[in-house]
Amino acid sequence: MDTNNNKEKIKVLLVDDDATIRTTYADVFRSEGFEVVEAVDGIEGLNKAMTEMPDVIFTGIIMPKMDGFAMKDALAKNVSTVNIPVLMSSHMGREEDRKKAIEMGVKEFFVAGMVTPRKVIENIRALFNTKKYHLKFDAAALDAPKLSADFHLDEFVCAKCYQQKMMELEISDVNKKEFRAQFICPDCK
Ligand SMILES: [Zn+2]
Repeated sequence: MDTNNNKEKIKVLLVDDDATIRTTYADVFRSEGFEVVEAVDGIEGLNKAMTEMPDVIFTGIIMPKMDGFAMKDALAKNVSTVNIPVLMSSHMGREEDRKKAIEMGVKEFFVAGMVTPRKVIENIRALFNTKKYHLKFDAAALDAPKLSADFHLDEFVCAKCYQQKMMELEISDVNKKEFRAQFICPDCK
């Protein structure tokens, strides 16, 4: 899929043998609008990577049947999965595991307990250049009144908390330098 297109959901394959971790991450990912596919070990992860073609894989390391490193290795040897970015989460947080992961081309290496699902989401979004930028907006400047009328914005202030709204820019196509813009309240969003 065209991952720069915001209309399509980012599909995450979540691989971990720990059901609590999977559920925790799956819930937050889904609440952020990601599509989530789950697998309980490296073998299932590999199979689902090939059948589901996720945009990104978030995996643990130590798992039965096939661990995260062996899965990453197998993904790299398969032409249909070689380009899927892999993010890894370690329970042990061992430095040699981090080195090994980076050498294998893992995009991010997290240490479980030191990272939140939100942080992982930030990293995933950054992979697809869907990072958001917030710009202050001068409601009295230049074309602002016309913009307000065209967009049927009552005011450039939040109806709930009366704060000045901001313009949120999200890259929609990094190659064409295109942005999607909307007005948001910095607190109420
Ligand atoms: Zn507000």
